[in-house]
Amino acid sequence: VGVLGLDVGASKLLARGVTRRGEPGFALRLPTGRSLGPAAAVDRIAEVVARARDAMADDGGVEAVGIGFPGLVDHERGVARSSVMLDGWADVPLAAAVEDRVGIPCALDNDVNAAALCEHRMGDGGDFLFVAIGTGIGGALVLGGDLRRGAGGVAGEIGHVTIDRAGRACSCGRRGCVNRYASGTAIEEAAGLAPGALPTLAAGPGPLAPVLLAAAEALGVALGSALNLLDVRRVVLGGGVAELGPRYLDAVAAATRRECFAEVGAHCQVAFARGGYQGAALGAAALARQRLVTAGQPAAAESSPSAPAYSRASRAAAAGVAPRAAKVET
Ligand SMILES: [Zn+2]
Repeated sequence: VGVLGLDVGASKLLARGVTRRGEPGFALRLPTGRSLGPAAAVDRIAEVVARARDAMADDGGVEAVGIGFPGLVDHERGVARSSVMLDGWADVPLAAAVEDRVGIPCALDNDVNAAALCEHRMGDGGDFLFVAIGTGIGGALVLGGDLRRGAGGVAGEIGHVTIDRAGRACSCGRRGCVNRYASGTAIEEAAGLAPGALPTLAAGPGPLAPVLLAAAEALGVALGSALNLLDVRRVVLGGGVAELGPRYLDAVAAATRRECFAEVGAHCQVAFARGGYQGAALGAAALARQRLVTAGQPAAAESSPSAPAYSRASRAAAAGVAPRAAKVET
């Protein structure tokens, strides 16, 4: 069957369909804004699902949808808990709202988790720390072949790791978070650039611009500590920074190796995400396919301590999609 993955962000909604043969198909990009609230988001998502169903009618249709959300997510319950990127989100049962609206199973996860899942599927199966650098900095952790969400869904979030206790004030209420030195926003502020001008700066001739070198070094301080703590050997960089090119990547790798134990640094690799800017949407499509499988096994989900307040599985059954789950190919 075909599935649809959505990357919902503060500047755009990116959709990628994946056909019944597992190939990327339908693609759509719609502008959004940070004022995109829950009701408007469900409207946009329903519109995209309808367009994808038409476009993929001969490729397995759209039997499930996955959403990468820019904020804190309760993946098990399908609830968007909060967002610093989008206004008006507080404990919104987004997956259930989308399922009610479009009549197919919906999976919800953090957008960086979705991008990390895409990297995991395209990669060699090893452990890695995924770091998404755009407006802010997000992170995700894959250990032992699984995405680790942690007790509260925060595992891997490296953006608010402190690199200077007396440093710049951060939106989280503390000081000196790496986010304030190495995010796209921080680099643009430091360089006096208009938002979105970063790729032009990175593309210039000659050595790496000093402001980008400073950002790479700041990121390396946080990554070095993270590698010492986690003892993983691969760091994957995604987000808009994935367009900044090899000189930036080399600077991040050099700073990271310098900032961790020599034996950790000697083995560490820093690479750009294989899924590029589409990673979160493609990973969300993988989440949608996983969701189809769990929709066919409601007992396990319903009996867990964090059983959903609403029954997504029974909604799916009511919509007539659960019987198909047994036939899902992976
Ligand atoms: Zn912070």
